[in-house]
Amino acid sequence: MGSGAKIKSKAVFITGTDTDVGKTVVTFVVGALLQKRGCDVGVMKPVQCSGEDAAFLRKNLNVTDSLQDINPYYAEEPLSPHLAFQRQHIHFKKEKIFAAYRRLQERHDFLIVEGAGGVLVPITPKYLMIDLIKDLDLDVVIVARLGLGTINHTLLTINQIKGYGLNVRGVIFNETEQISKGVAEQTNPQAVKKIGQVPVLGVVPYLKEISQKEIEKKCVGIAISQILNEKERSGNPSSALKRWDKDYLWHPFTQMQDWLQEDPIVIERGEGNYLIDSDGKKYLDGISSLWVNVHGHNHPQINQAIKNQVDKISHSTLLGLSNVPAIQLAKKLVEITPSGLDKVFYSDNGSTAVEIAIKMAYQYWQNAGQIKKTDIVHLANSYHGDTLGSVSVGGIELFHQVYRKLIFKTIQLDFPDCYRAPKGKVYPDYAFECLERFEQILKTKHHSIACLVLEPIVQGAAGMIIWPDGVLKGMAQLCRQYDVLLIADEVATGFGRTGKMFACEHEKVIPDIMCLAKGITGGYLPLAATMVSQRIFDGFVFDYKDQKTFFHGHTYTGNPLACAAALANINIFKNDRTLEKLQSKIKHLSQQLPMFYNLNFVGDVRQKGFMVGIELVKDKVTKEPFPWQEKMGVRVCQAARAQGVMLRPLGNVIVLMPSLSISVKEIDQLIGVTYQAIKQVTEDD
Ligand SMILES: *Cc1c(COP(=O)(O)O)cnc(C)c1O
Repeated sequence: MGSGAKIKSKAVFITGTDTDVGKTVVTFVVGALLQKRGCDVGVMKPVQCSGEDAAFLRKNLNVTDSLQDINPYYAEEPLSPHLAFQRQHIHFKKEKIFAAYRRLQERHDFLIVEGAGGVLVPITPKYLMIDLIKDLDLDVVIVARLGLGTINHTLLTINQIKGYGLNVRGVIFNETEQISKGVAEQTNPQAVKKIGQVPVLGVVPYLKEISQKEIEKKCVGIAISQILNEKERSGNPSSALKRWDKDYLWHPFTQMQDWLQEDPIVIERGEGNYLIDSDGKKYLDGISSLWVNVHGHNHPQINQAIKNQVDKISHSTLLGLSNVPAIQLAKKLVEITPSGLDKVFYSDNGSTAVEIAIKMAYQYWQNAGQIKKTDIVHLANSYHGDTLGSVSVGGIELFHQVYRKLIFKTIQLDFPDCYRAPKGKVYPDYAFECLERFEQILKTKHHSIACLVLEPIVQGAAGMIIWPDGVLKGMAQLCRQYDVLLIADEVATGFGRTGKMFACEHEKVIPDIMCLAKGITGGYLPLAATMVSQRIFDGFVFDYKDQKTFFHGHTYTGNPLACAAALANINIFKNDRTLEKLQSKIKHLSQQLPMFYNLNFVGDVRQKGFMVGIELVKDKVTKEPFPWQEKMGVRVCQAARAQGVMLRPLGNVIVLMPSLSISVKEIDQLIGVTYQAIKQVTEDD
């Protein structure tokens, strides 16, 4: 049988400690409770000797599968299967069971497989019930009687199952007849739980009539979520999750009218560079889960770091207290960022990291008595986050125009698109003209300008606009010359994305303030850092009564779990030589990318390290864009998803931004699928 958690998590095997413990009743109870939760349940009784169990379950759970699939092997006599089959000349073949099992699994969210007798019942002299469980790769739920003698039987069964390397999801006790409960009945479940080291999933009380209604009334205490194994999977069948998503969630940056009409993908697990959804489908994560994942999903070292920290403390405040991981991470961040960034101020997302930077830059001059330096310069097409302060320094009309009245005034510096040159100009010459424009502004207004905020080298959300070499350096020099603070928003570019740890390193630029978020925890937990120079820090160190304190702080500032994850993330860079290994992968990527120009509707392909933008245009010569209403980018990404690659576009720009841990083979998959998706959507229309 196939291996893998998909099968494991979508079915369970119900066995008894003995014959006649009421397995079929319990199977029905479990099935009915699952159905009540909106789960599409299938049942199977692979082997049955006499009786009506399979037919009973089929009828009462209202399943329409054929009785041959539900019960592939049936013998007339109430004997052990090996004997009953022999006497009736039935030739047993396990493959017949596997095939029926697969068919049923395909059709249902969750499958309950009921055994016959206990786990050591021979189906043939050489093939026991437990061999079948192992072949089906299923976890086991044990049904036990409630009364005297059950501890021994149950523990034997547990030991046997565990000895085979299988997992016991839990024990359900069944009150097979109406008895008055003595000490044994009341304490047996606890004894089994303690000695057997397994969960007790509940007690099914004696049911006078075996009906859906009676079950709903009397069996609500059964731990259905553990039977579904909610620890391993998110617990609910895929169809129910999709329905609840639409019932209860409002998604970010999403027109919900469109969303409600689509079939949502629900991610359940991650493995390395892949995402796995609630239907078990695997996707290569082509955008590192919105630019955050660094070393892959489910990374053992980051997992372990968080687990270790959970066992100590998960949160304590940085207001008036400190904590261990926050201190250790601050030291580490100062070590790995360009020298000159000396202090760390934490928050929990990129937008706040930028707001903090802006407030600091502003207050720095206020504290210094230069109270006229209040203006903030930012670039056209910039993106610094979605809170009002960060929107104020944003330059993407589509996102920001609605809030114009709410946001503060800024100076926007025209900044060139690297693809669409102004009339009569050539790239990269015209890109440097923005330095002249900036100097023009500075010459007349530097007395009133507090800071310049920019995304160094790559303007991410604008569509991966990449600067020619030297522009960043020029900006930094002008800031220095006119005593304007430079804020580098490395929320997207930080942690290796551009091929160096930080984009500023490409031009040896040391900003006064640097904003970090997205990749800082390896894509695990929300955390951000605003790094500042000693000069900025000192600008806030006064007597308390001077009222120059930086009055800012979020409740979860310096969260120990997030800091522990970030420390592990940074350590992996060193231990795995991540940046060193990255260089050949960047080169490989840059060798593959030019082939996109073969496509009829690709106008520009831009790359800096692992940040790639492929711009779709309606006309390659005039560079006329596709109308945004056509949603070309979205459609290409949908086509890529169908081929197992997860992408998210920026308008007409297809973004590739994989985790740094992606392999060369996976890069080829990413490129190949993206290429075909663009071709299919733009050329086959
Ligand atoms: C994503 C991003 C932000 C905002 O970060 P959030 O964590 O989403 O608030 C800010 N700046 C840049 C450059 C970004 O790419």
